[in-house]
This record gives sequence, structure tokens and C-alpha cells, in this order.
Amino acid sequence: MSVAVVTGAARGIGRAIAERLAADGYTPLLVDLADSVRDAVPEGGAAVVADVSTEEGWGAIRAAAESLGPVGVLVNNAGITRDARLGKMTEEDFRAVLRVNLGSAHGLTAALADLIEDGGAVVNISSRAQLGNFGQFNYAVSKAGVIGLTRSLALLHAPRLRVNAVAPGFVASEMTDAMPAHVRERVIAAIPLARAGLPADIAAAVAWLASPDAGYVTGQVLYSCGGRSFA
Ligand code: NAD
Repeated sequence: MSVAVVTGAARGIGRAIAERLAADGYTPLLVDLADSVRDAVPEGGAAVVADVSTEEGWGAIRAAAESLGPVGVLVNNAGITRDARLGKMTEEDFRAVLRVNLGSAHGLTAALADLIEDGGAVVNISSRAQLGNFGQFNYAVSKAGVIGLTRSLALLHAPRLRVNAVAPGFVASEMTDAMPAHVRERVIAAIPLARAGLPADIAAAVAWLASPDAGYVTGQVLYSCGGRSFA
């Protein structure tokens, strides 16, 4: 079976995606800045410690993928938040979020595209926050950009590859654990399906978009957010 490259896979959503794609028969290549990614590798998989926002990182990930075999799926999942009110957000925080959340998906897809086998898939992780989120100007812009990137890559690589995005809503992970408890409670109360998403919910959406069942789907955004995108 082919290789599934998953970025930001040391924990949270990325780790769940790597586990799910491994269960679906892919050889997972887990990528993360954190050394702990080595402890997250499902049986038969591999890990590479790399920064997805740098050319050096893309080179290291490409070398690791080439050593494992043809790539079937690339999941651009790594992401960060640096929230602040307008006027309090530094230029560095604005740019850092764009570089990691958006620049990495562009740069890594460009670096790996020719390694992805015909009929393969790229899945980018956007966010419901791309619709706009108070205090997340940098994050919302980066995740809206991921959708423009997804559509542009879908056009560029059709018909050889399919490129889609998943837009999670609020998902229980270390990223959202960092939010104040009262904010978390308010966000969950506004979700029509009345619960936080689980990393496995997002992994299932990614697995479907990567699978032949989604063989006629490209350039699309699949919201996995408990209905929050329209509520
Ligand atoms: P997380 O913070 O728990 O995990 C992110 C992982 O990415 C970490 O292991 C981190 O080390 C890694 N990472 C960060 N920068 C990196 C870099 N430059 N190079 C390599 N690895 C890097 O986050 P999560 O909640 O699992 O989120 C995963 C993705 O889903 C992100 O893109 C996030 O924006 C998106 N998302 C999350 C939620 C949510 O509610 N948790 C909602 C919508 C979208």
C-alpha cells in the first residue's frame, strides 16, 4: 500500500489522522516539529522531525517519503494559533500563523507533488474559523487561504490528483485545551450537535476524501463541525 504523509502528527487531530490512515492500509509517515512524533508512529509507519514551514523541512520530508515508496495521500494538517485582539496582534504573530498554516501547505504540496501516485489525494486542514473569528485575524486569514489554495491546486493537478479540504469546528485537542474554560463552554453551547468534535471525527472525514469513494470530488471543503458553519 502507498504512503500517507501526515503533518503535525505528534498529537491531536494529526495523530488521529495518521492512525486512521494506517488502519485503512496506508504506510503512515508522521511529520512534526516535536521529537515526540516518534512515539506516535503506528505499527509499520515512520516519523520525520521537520519544520513544515521551511524549505529545509520540505527537503527532509521528501527524502523520508522517497525512502518509503510511492505517496498515495498528503495531509497538510500542521497548524498553530497566536490569537490577539486587533491592535494587539504583532506583525510577527500575523506572519508566523500564515507561514505555518498556509505557507506549509503550499510549499510541501509543491515539494511532494511529483511523488504522489496517479489517482492520489491531497487533503488540507482548514477550519470553520475561516468564516471569521473574533481575535483570530491571522488564523482566519490563513484558513481561508487554505481553501483558495485547495481550489487552485485542485485545478492545477486535475485530473491526476484530487485536492480537497476539511474544515473542522471546535475539536477537543491540546490546541483548544489552551482556551479559557468559559470560552470553551460558550463555543460548545453554540454547536447544533451539542458536543465538541473528536480528532477521530476529523480523521474519518480525511479518510473519506482520500478514498476512492470520493473519486469524483475535488476542490471541495468538507465541514466537520457539528453544524456550526451555518448555525
Ligand atoms: P495541536 O496543537 O494539538 O497539534 C498541532 C501539531 O502540529 C503539534 O504536534 C505541533 O508540534 C505541530 N506543528 C506546529 N507547527 C509545526 C511546524 N512548523 N512543523 C511541523 N509541525 C508543526 O493542534 P490540533 O488541534 O490537533 O489541530 C490540527 C490542525 O487542525 C491544525 O491545522 C488546526 O489549525 C486545525 N484545526 C483544529 C481545530 C481544533 O478545534 N482543535 C479546529 C479547526 C481546525
